[in-house]
Amino acid sequence: MDECVICEREVETTRHHLIPKNRKESPIVPVCGSCHRQIHAVFTNHELKHRFNTVTALKESEEMRKFAAWIRKTNKRHVAVDETKRVSDWRG
Ligand SMILES: [Zn+2]
Ligand SMILES: [Zn+2]
Repeated sequence: MDECVICEREVETTRHHLIPKNRKESPIVPVCGSCHRQIHAVFTNHELKHRFNTVTALKESEEMRKFAAWIRKTNKRHVAVDETKRVSDWRG
């Protein structure tokens, strides 16, 4: 258990490489599965590498702020299969 750097929930986390495709040099941050999927769903690797390569930049982006606010309200600890639909509904 760790704290997700995006939604700040204490949950099981996955490792996100802040600089995609540069795994050796990239800093690694803990993000929950939901936020991680969202990061890669809304940003391309190119955008991540050049614009959202810090936790602050990711967290303050419009996309992730909205998502984090939403996911905190769901009280979901684990991402169930059906959450995929909820996520896509939220994204419209
Ligand atoms: Zn999260
Ligand atoms: Zn990642």
